[in-house]
Order: sequence, then C-alpha cells, then structure tokens
Amino acid sequence: MVNCRKCKHFYITWDARFPNGCKSYGIRSKYNPAFEVLRVTGKGCLCFHEKKIKRIIRTNN
Ligand code: SF4
Repeated sequence: MVNCRKCKHFYITWDARFPNGCKSYGIRSKYNPAFEVLRVTGKGCLCFHEKKIKRIIRTNN
C-alpha cells in the first residue's frame, strides 16, 4: 500500500469528516485515499507520484 502523504496528489481538506484528499482521483476520505481506491476498484493506486521535498539550507551569518 502506498503512503499518500508522500504523494504529490495528496492534500488536507477543510472537511473534518473527510480530511484526506486526492486530487488525482478527486476523492476525500476519512483515511488514506489509497484505501478508498483499493476498496472501490479492487486494485492499488496507479497514480502515485512522489512529492519532491524542498530542503532549506541554513547558513550561519
Ligand atoms: S494518487 Fe494514489 S497515492 Fe496519490 S494521494 Fe491519490 S490515492 Fe494516494
């Protein structure tokens, strides 16, 4: 099972009942959106795209 929090399509919604959103599938879920994809389609998510993490490099001035 993929970790949606590492996917660029994942976002946090404003709906407290369904806080986990997926822009790719257009769904909001109480849990990891990939669980919903698996439950409905019977297959794992095929749209996972790893998020690039910006690293902030601090210098001592
Ligand atoms: S595309 Fe797949 S891995 Fe990414 S947020 Fe949606 S369900 Fe999760």
